[in-house]
Amino acid sequence: MTENRVYNFSAGPSVMPEEALLEARRDLLNYKGSGMSVMEMSHRSPVFAEIFDSTQEKLRKALSVPDDYEILFLQGGATLQFAAIPMNLSCGKTADYAVTGNFSNKAAKEAEKYCTVHLAATTAPEHNRIPKQNELSLTPDAAYFYYCANNTIYGTEWQYIPETDAPLVCDMSSDILSQPVDVSRFGLIYAGAQKNMAPAGLTVVIVKKDLAGKELPFTPQVMSYKTMIETGSMLNTPPCWCIYMLGLTLDWLLERGGVTWMQELKRERAKRVYDFLDNSRFYLAHAEKDSRSDMNVTFRTNSPELDAAFVKEAAARGLVNLKGHRIAGGMRASLYNAMPMEGVDALVAFMKEFEREHV
Ligand SMILES: *Cc1c(COP(=O)(O)O)cnc(C)c1O
Repeated sequence: MTENRVYNFSAGPSVMPEEALLEARRDLLNYKGSGMSVMEMSHRSPVFAEIFDSTQEKLRKALSVPDDYEILFLQGGATLQFAAIPMNLSCGKTADYAVTGNFSNKAAKEAEKYCTVHLAATTAPEHNRIPKQNELSLTPDAAYFYYCANNTIYGTEWQYIPETDAPLVCDMSSDILSQPVDVSRFGLIYAGAQKNMAPAGLTVVIVKKDLAGKELPFTPQVMSYKTMIETGSMLNTPPCWCIYMLGLTLDWLLERGGVTWMQELKRERAKRVYDFLDNSRFYLAHAEKDSRSDMNVTFRTNSPELDAAFVKEAAARGLVNLKGHRIAGGMRASLYNAMPMEGVDALVAFMKEFEREHV
């Protein structure tokens, strides 16, 4: 690692590939002879248009997005999509929601303002597992089926794509680009960029084109997928800098083998931590084994005081942001794409040592 950087286990905003940061620094004051930073450019200038188009192409390539899907670069975070999805896709019908954590719960609550929400499954209050296909209660003729692929706070991840007649809508904020995904199985995939892609401020929406254009009449223009498709995500100023950074992240990813390579790495990172947890009687993993997230590993000791000491001592070693989310407690190690394997090994070594000192 260069320049005394720490191993950053933050759940988001989170670690970025160092190569992407270094490249951005190189071009910070003068982007490829333009004489200015990407931050200072008109979003309608040819030089930025090239950045925008090539970033979209790279994302299409990385996720093998079929041609009948549009890739949108929007603002408002994943949270704005909690409202945009029912506004654009509910068409006055019932929408099915699987609530497996905090963000899908928030999405369902927000959707209730705009359509009838049917709770297709819930894992509350523990949120330590993912429902099985045969536990899903599906509404015939539902407008869509909504779920969150990876539960960032609780550390659970869907290991399968649900089978439904209704179009699938999926929040992939915390596991997008971590594995190959069959986009054609989905009506809409979306993700806030700040977990696994880019700085905060960009939301990626991948939407099947024929689902757009049926929004409720009061839908704000800036939230209408149809309008955003027609304007090429440029109804208004897009998050230019974040789009540029996403392009650099995608260069890094594609040069090294894309999402297949990422999947191998994510499994290996998670395996190293879970294998250790499973052999320890000092730490307790939160999620059930078949529902575990490779991206966010949640665990605790048997006392909140020890948990606090763990987080503090880890930080003193340059292993930072290991405190669990305030609603879940305990610890959380977020192992996103850009987390180096050395960071994982340093974490496991520290866990061992802390256990030895405190059993
Ligand atoms: C972080 C996160 C959100 C919220 O994202 P914002 O961009 O802050 O609105 C939603 N869903 C998931 C799965 C997340 O990890």
